[in-house]
Amino acid sequence: MDDPATQPATGGSDAASGRTAIIGAQKSQTPLVPLIIILSAIAIYLWRSDFAPRWPMIIGAVLILVQMFIRGPFAKKAGSVTVSRDYVYRLDLIIMFGVFVTMVLLPTARLVTPWLDTFDYQLGSASAVMGVIISIFSLWLFYRSHADLGKQWSATLQIGEEHQLVTNGVYARIRHPMYSALWLYALAQPLLFQNWIAGPPVILVWAMLYFSRLPREERMMEEQFGKGYDDYRKHAGALWPRMRS
Ligand code: SAH
Repeated sequence: MDDPATQPATGGSDAASGRTAIIGAQKSQTPLVPLIIILSAIAIYLWRSDFAPRWPMIIGAVLILVQMFIRGPFAKKAGSVTVSRDYVYRLDLIIMFGVFVTMVLLPTARLVTPWLDTFDYQLGSASAVMGVIISIFSLWLFYRSHADLGKQWSATLQIGEEHQLVTNGVYARIRHPMYSALWLYALAQPLLFQNWIAGPPVILVWAMLYFSRLPREERMMEEQFGKGYDDYRKHAGALWPRMRS
């Protein structure tokens, strides 16, 4: 039986040739609308907390915006790339939506509405400071991995025309630095959004995306780059730097 993980999900490996498709799927490359929504959410939260907010949540909201501003320009560039092999699969799209809900929508909802307030928990300020440090480091890594991947980046699993294997920059020792960054970001979120709905669930949903996507992505890269990818794997770890080959 064919392993679905090795099968291009949308009708054959050449199905998407000649079109600029999901690469850079988010159409709103200028995050102006999120900017307005999240700044309004912060304003509403300040007002409804009588200007005595839980400051980690304000920082968390600003960092959501930073994340969108980092990705925006890269999504725009990737949007002009022609897809040559498309490995998009439905489950991936569904879980990606779940990541959006838990990473963006629920934290924003926590700021705006009083309904989620009862699910708050309280950690010491050292935890919040750690959350800020981890998030800032993760956003640096998120930025560097977008910059190093350049036009090879795509929101879903795709190979573009003239796709090159990137093995430099943060990719020199880590094969999936963008996913490392998102792991750190997800782990830090419950330290900033200290709320059982707006915080911890993101870890579970992100883990689902990571563990369902990674084997498919690795197989896609192997199929595309063959021995080049095997060699790369020998000296670069998946999420952490491989120190020795
Ligand atoms: N998993 C990587 C990239 C995430 S973006 C990371 O965590 O950093 C997903 C897309 O990046 C995939 O569709 C694949 O086409 C591309 N990609 C992943 N690793 C790559 C590499 N080393 N070189 C070129 N493209 C790569």
